[in-house]
Amino acid sequence: MIVLGSGVIGLTTAIRLQEAGFAPRLLTRDRPEATTSAVAAAVWYPYRAYPAHRVLPWSRRTLEVCYDLAADPASGVSLIPFVDLFDRPTPPPAWRTAVRAFRRARPDERPAGYVDGFVAEVPLIETPVHLPYLVDRFEAGGGTIEVVPGGVTDLAALAASAGLVVHCTGLGARRLVPDPSVYPIRGQVVRVTNPGLTHALADDTGPLAISYVIPRRGDVILGGTAQDGVWDRTPDPETTREILRKARLLEPRLADAAVLEARVGLRPGRPTVRLEAERLPGGGTVIHNYGHGGAGFTLAWGCADEVVALVRAHHARPA
Ligand SMILES: Cc1cc2nc3c(=O)[nH]c(=O)nc-3n(C[C@H](O)[C@H](O)[C@H](O)COP(=O)(O)OP(=O)(O)OC[C@H]3O[C@@H](n4cnc5c(N)ncnc54)[C@H](O)[C@@H]3O)c2cc1C
Repeated sequence: MIVLGSGVIGLTTAIRLQEAGFAPRLLTRDRPEATTSAVAAAVWYPYRAYPAHRVLPWSRRTLEVCYDLAADPASGVSLIPFVDLFDRPTPPPAWRTAVRAFRRARPDERPAGYVDGFVAEVPLIETPVHLPYLVDRFEAGGGTIEVVPGGVTDLAALAASAGLVVHCTGLGARRLVPDPSVYPIRGQVVRVTNPGLTHALADDTGPLAISYVIPRRGDVILGGTAQDGVWDRTPDPETTREILRKARLLEPRLADAAVLEARVGLRPGRPTVRLEAERLPGGGTVIHNYGHGGAGFTLAWGCADEVVALVRAHHARPA
């Protein structure tokens, strides 16, 4: 059995398969630190991932796992108050029942111009710590990450020879499957020093949209953009200035924070997450697990558990 891809989706899936008694090989074009996953901050927040009736259970499951991981500092997961801001009265989101300590934001928690908001305690998944943690867990389970320079080019041939491929290539699926419904959602972020912030803030729809502030142990990630269909991975200096301007309006204590770097990641957009098994005419089965949009860290463990169920349903047995 092969898992393809070493972003958060591939790593999490490979770990769950190991825990179920399988011994997957993990092939990847890029190592984890060079993936889209490495650019995210990231917080648990179901964003730009569909359909809602599947995303919500996957998110809930991932939330449970993250609450457990937060007990282990080595995982890079902790819990953070997250303030979601609105410039008009807004009904609570569907995920309110899943998270701990969900409540309306008090007036003193809302910057000027925001009349509504929600506060929840959500997992903060610090990717520079969490991705190496996942790699360590996978390697401790007997796995190794095998880099295929240039990436795999023939999924059908790989499935025919391996029998079962669990396919987690994110945006790579566009060319590899090929699946033209997969598209980039370009996200630029700016990393700055942390002046002592402890709350995450976000405006997704209001006057400063899209703007978010995510404090981590040693820095703060400021966002951002969500540009559909844009492939450019080079940070744009004008966008960096705009991100800083908005973030400083949202959180004035950022006024003197030093800029460390700007980065770009291409979220793997798709009308719906593709999580299903496909038997190929040439032999072999592919279990697809890609297209998680802006929510890969929010969905990873729930999707990984469903992959394990699909693998079992396809009669694969642990070696
Ligand atoms: C700026 C930004 C902020 C974000 N914030 C959040 C957040 O707060 N919360 C959240 O949940 N999500 C967030 N996301 C979204 C999240 O990062 C993605 O949903 C997630 O990283 C997707 O993971 P993935 O493993 O599917 O893809 P990737 O991380 O892109 O990994 C894909 C893997 O497949 C490999 N691959 C591709 N093609 C091939 C091939 N042909 N052969 C072999 N290997 C191949 C790649 O090398 C890579 O290892 C954010 C994203 C961005 C860009």
